[in-house]
Amino acid sequence: MSTYDLPKFDLHLHLDGSILPETAWELVQEQGVAVEATTLEEFIPLIMVPKGCRDVNQCLERFEIPVKIMQEASALTRITKELIDWLAETGIAYAEIRFAPQLHTQKALTQKDAIEAVLVGLEMGLSANPDIKVGIILCAMVFGAETINMEANLETVRLTKEYLGKGVVALDLAGAEGIVPLSNFAPVFDLAKELSVPRTCHAGDSQGPDTVSDALDFGVTRVGHGHHIYEDLALCQRAKDLGIVFEVCPTSNVCCQTTENYNTHYMKRMYDFGLKVTVNTDNMTLFGIDINDEYDRCLEMGFTYDDLKQMIANAIEGSFMPEEDKAEFLAKL
Ligand SMILES: [Zn+2]
Repeated sequence: MSTYDLPKFDLHLHLDGSILPETAWELVQEQGVAVEATTLEEFIPLIMVPKGCRDVNQCLERFEIPVKIMQEASALTRITKELIDWLAETGIAYAEIRFAPQLHTQKALTQKDAIEAVLVGLEMGLSANPDIKVGIILCAMVFGAETINMEANLETVRLTKEYLGKGVVALDLAGAEGIVPLSNFAPVFDLAKELSVPRTCHAGDSQGPDTVSDALDFGVTRVGHGHHIYEDLALCQRAKDLGIVFEVCPTSNVCCQTTENYNTHYMKRMYDFGLKVTVNTDNMTLFGIDINDEYDRCLEMGFTYDDLKQMIANAIEGSFMPEEDKAEFLAKL
């Protein structure tokens, strides 16, 4: 693993896709979750994306076990704390960890309980690693038709408002793509806007540029993935004029086959167009990567070391941290 002497940022990182494999294995055994594995070695492939994965929705199936073992407060706290330890080891200066509270209500927890459990882990992680800063993003979810979980999504928005400034920094919308039009989820973002909640949205990953257009209509300042925007240059110009920051996750996109390979990825072309591109991991365990691997891939894709610095500057600018912290990080860079 190479390391980069830079204040590394990861703005797009899912908690449930970034559980230390050893911890996941322990929790599976502790909680008596049935899995087709008898050893850690057999277990690890069950929480990683297989080679030759069909599409994003097949990638999403790999969250089944992680979500199952994240239904208790103690598990959420432990997983959050350990992820922060892991991020610190990889030299991350600032990360935004996201999760969907409504995915953790299958047993006794409420959305609010799940958030509080993660915030306890955040507190523990930050005190153990004083050199790292972390913000939590709460995800609303797309499971299918927007009517299935609109109430739960609106609750997530209200809770984002309630915990803003207490560890939570923004709202996101994640989940399955291409089942219903993304625009159907406008009420989620309307409420977020009304409550002045900062927002980002997954779009333009397995689906085309029109979904990025929907996300921009939601009034987001950032887009998760968004790489298919490059198929619509007029939309690229709109995003550029708005100063939208793109949370690009190259290995995720290759693993989930939303682009064929690193060479076909639009990332560098988006960057050359003048879009504010950033580099992120999406899921460290699911894809078996950390931020240093993604920087390696970027250099192989034609980015220079100065480009990496510029993408970190973009991440600082687009991050949901307080303005005074941004100045400090820019000075460091
Ligand atoms: Zn994501």
